[in-house]
Amino acid sequence: HYNFCAGPAALPQAVLERARDELLDYQGRGLSVMEMSHRSPEFTAIAEQAEADIRELLAIPDNYRVLFLQGGASMQFAMLPYNLLGRGGTPNYLYTGIWGKKAISEAQHLAGAHIAASSEGNGLTAVPRPEEIQLSADAAYLHYTANETIGGLEFDYIPEVEVPLVCDMSSSILSGPLDVSKFGVLYAGAQKNIGPAGLTLVIVRDDLLERARPETPTMFSYKVMAENGSMFNTPATYAWYLAGLVFEWLKHDVGGLAAMNAINDRKAAKLYATIDASDFYSNPIVPRNRSRMNVPFVLADEALNAPFLAEAEAAGLLNLKGHRSVGGMRASLYNAVPEAGVDALIEFMTDFEHRRG
Ligand code: PLP
Repeated sequence: HYNFCAGPAALPQAVLERARDELLDYQGRGLSVMEMSHRSPEFTAIAEQAEADIRELLAIPDNYRVLFLQGGASMQFAMLPYNLLGRGGTPNYLYTGIWGKKAISEAQHLAGAHIAASSEGNGLTAVPRPEEIQLSADAAYLHYTANETIGGLEFDYIPEVEVPLVCDMSSSILSGPLDVSKFGVLYAGAQKNIGPAGLTLVIVRDDLLERARPETPTMFSYKVMAENGSMFNTPATYAWYLAGLVFEWLKHDVGGLAAMNAINDRKAAKLYATIDASDFYSNPIVPRNRSRMNVPFVLADEALNAPFLAEAEAAGLLNLKGHRSVGGMRASLYNAVPEAGVDALIEFMTDFEHRRG
């Protein structure tokens, strides 16, 4: 079976097997990781190794803190403005889809928000070009969504601005190398390329820990979480451990993020080529902004949606139904989906078109 779910998404088979082997008795301790104190030497070692590995994978500079939080990326939509608006100013956002809109609405509650550029005019089929970005004079930060998971719309560049750049990278983090130094804050819900749901990764530049609004709830404070090693309260220990196994898999089995990037390029390129070669399938996004991780497509004849999904599932190709807000199909090609899975999907799509097109 191959799992094309947008999230929670497939995990690498090797990670699941290792977790199974260690489930009841972690390295001879006679305990499951789930049963360990988060302050025990065993769990401390797991937590520190996971941080060291993601620092190595993403070459995270020393002046950045890595936080392992809960609440999902959706909680970051609110936590972020609390933490960055202590000196006033207007939060600025790029609007490119549904997730960005949710982030904007949380900032609006707190401080209003300025839309510095929008994809609304092109029907969310292309991201704004750099020259279209117009910050407000009092911009406190600029936020954007690197990859809109539902629309399948991905930035092909990192915006260059004078204010802290903030990015929701939930559905594209770890898909390839990244220059972390260009960002003030990066965050991602774990349940796509990092690990299981329940964990949220935040990477924040040191100096930004001093900008929180005074009424920021303690559990919302990046500074409090950083000062307490993400253990102000009980963290999502088991999810943190599994994320660590994923980081190890990326380092040792895949060979790092440059290798992962090449695989992801190949996977997405061949699926889009299949879609483009046919009148039976289509995708509306301009080629340079097509997402590598989430490939939405529609069938020319909507009446074939149900048989397509049923036959795909019978062929072991799972979770291809598009998001409820857009319909059609969506194949999510996160890191854990092997190239063989994409080959199997392409073979199925080609065969289905021959039989039903
Ligand atoms: N941002 C993006 C880009 C997403 O894809 C998602 C979930 O799919 C979210 C935010 C919301 O994440 P969470 O469910 O962790 O709050």
